[in-house]
Amino acid sequence: MKVYTICLKTYMIDQFAKDHSLPSFRITQFNLAYYKEFISSYDELSTWPKALREELKSAILFSTITPSTILESKDKGTQKIVFTRISDEKRFESVLMRHDDKRNTVCVSCMVGCPMGCAFCATGKMRFIANLTAREIVDQVLYFARILKKQKQVVTNVVFMGMGEPLLNLEQVMEAIRTLNNPHCMEFGIRRITISTCGITPKIYELMKLGYKGRLALSLHAPNQTLRESLMPIAKTYPLPELMSTVKAFATRTQLRVSYEYILINGVNDTPEHAKELVNLIGEDIEFVHINLIPYNPIPGVSFSRSTSRSIHEFADVLSEFGISNTFRVTMGDDIKAACGQLANS
Ligand code: SF4
Repeated sequence: MKVYTICLKTYMIDQFAKDHSLPSFRITQFNLAYYKEFISSYDELSTWPKALREELKSAILFSTITPSTILESKDKGTQKIVFTRISDEKRFESVLMRHDDKRNTVCVSCMVGCPMGCAFCATGKMRFIANLTAREIVDQVLYFARILKKQKQVVTNVVFMGMGEPLLNLEQVMEAIRTLNNPHCMEFGIRRITISTCGITPKIYELMKLGYKGRLALSLHAPNQTLRESLMPIAKTYPLPELMSTVKAFATRTQLRVSYEYILINGVNDTPEHAKELVNLIGEDIEFVHINLIPYNPIPGVSFSRSTSRSIHEFADVLSEFGISNTFRVTMGDDIKAACGQLANS
């Protein structure tokens, strides 16, 4: 029996169909059931004869990841899944956030652990363990799409803000995005996908060269080079001036607002002076800028604490005074360690 091991189901199903001399409508039936109707097992692929389904079962895994632990926040707004990769049993986490405005955002991981070592991030403390494949990334989205389907809901947004730095696993991330966006697969709108990076400047250029038309978020977290280096080691390699001009070039090319993520840490980066420095860093070109203020979420072994609500408001007021679009992100899922910076296979 041939077992198909190449990365993506889209290619595997083409190969399977070829090897079994199947007419093209079988692929159409498969894609409809798998990527649009979100079947929960191959047994539900009712447009295929049973014997063919049995062949498919033994040839192509239905999913490359299995949920090991499922956690739900008290308010039911956030669900965190610890997934196990079938290939090597390594574990990573993904999060579903259900917003009051009916958006359902899936926060996917692209790595197990992360090599970037940001001071405020639990994933960074794990260090790098493995890259996820495109199929493992797509399988995270499909998992949540199946859950939401049972509640007559859909995934509305996908953000690469889980474990890992997406631009350091760019080939697999782009392949996953192509599958999500492919009209024959999920047909997921490209502008509802966000890649979040800690600032790998040359890879942002590469993203532009690849013609990526989705959204970009920059984990900024500091308004000057010295402070950023102390929070994010990658800043030493890719200094702020060049990074900022690259991100602005991305915004100009895509005509999409870039989201600057800024975790507010008590007494570290949250004073009105820091806010003014941030205004200066952004400069006059504010049309495509949005600053997402995020409360620091505590992680074990790190002495940072969350900014007071007074500091947060003062910080936001400075940004607003200079006309910079900003929002304060409501913390979701911190009771199950699913909030920003807390993912660590807990
Ligand atoms: S914030 Fe992002 S880039 Fe930094 S260590 Fe955490 S996962 Fe990696």
